[in-house]
Amino acid sequence: MPKTKKGQAVSCRRAQDDTPSHSRREKFLATVTPEEILKIFEKRSRAIESAKQSLENLIIDASYAQEPKRLQILQALYWGTHVSEDKLATYFGISGRTHLHEIVGPKDSPCSSCHALFPRKSRHSTTQCRPCRIRTASEEREAQNREYAAHTAERAEKDRLDRERINQLRDLPYAEYLKTDHWKGVSDLARKRARYQCELCKGRKGKLHVHHKTYANLGDEQYGDLIVLCETCHRKQHGKEATA
Ligand SMILES: [Zn+2]
Ligand SMILES: [Zn+2]
Ligand SMILES: [Zn+2]
Repeated sequence: MPKTKKGQAVSCRRAQDDTPSHSRREKFLATVTPEEILKIFEKRSRAIESAKQSLENLIIDASYAQEPKRLQILQALYWGTHVSEDKLATYFGISGRTHLHEIVGPKDSPCSSCHALFPRKSRHSTTQCRPCRIRTASEEREAQNREYAAHTAERAEKDRLDRERINQLRDLPYAEYLKTDHWKGVSDLARKRARYQCELCKGRKGKLHVHHKTYANLGDEQYGDLIVLCETCHRKQHGKEATA
């Protein structure tokens, strides 16, 4: 145990160069060989293993106590240590975790929120008493509701702004409309989608026009509303539409 403490102190003071632990380490590193490091490592590993074994022996010895002391020890080990449930069940001759929980619990434990004592069934049970659990759940639900309401309001506001923007675009004279960033974006996208060729004759020559098949969605053109045409096809298209 002192070894661990020392080790922690060393790593905490890593930034300061002139600490005693730093010079201790310097001295150590000046003479140590890799083989010696390996030896120390093995020695300390053995110490850990033997400490583990002695903990194990302690539990085994305790399991031989007479009732009611035996039960009190089991409860103390269960609630006061991290010894696994399986290990405790095995050493104390209990079949299964459910049975173990029945024997060691419930235990009055302080609630992690209000600190009032409440019966905890097992180490895995909630650390909150029932009223706090209900309160937390309803707080979470309320937070979710608030978040949802905020989200809905945000979306509604966005929709409103979108509609306003579309209406502004629709109110423009057509020549002005064609100069807007909106139209530039929409028409560029249409040309790109048509792979920069006329969608009727597949020609790539000259300027590609983006023709409105319908003006119904002006300001908010949909996929099928536009067609990309070369100058010739565009003129023909308007001729057709004029005669139709
Ligand atoms: Zn509570
Ligand atoms: Zn064409
Ligand atoms: Zn046109």
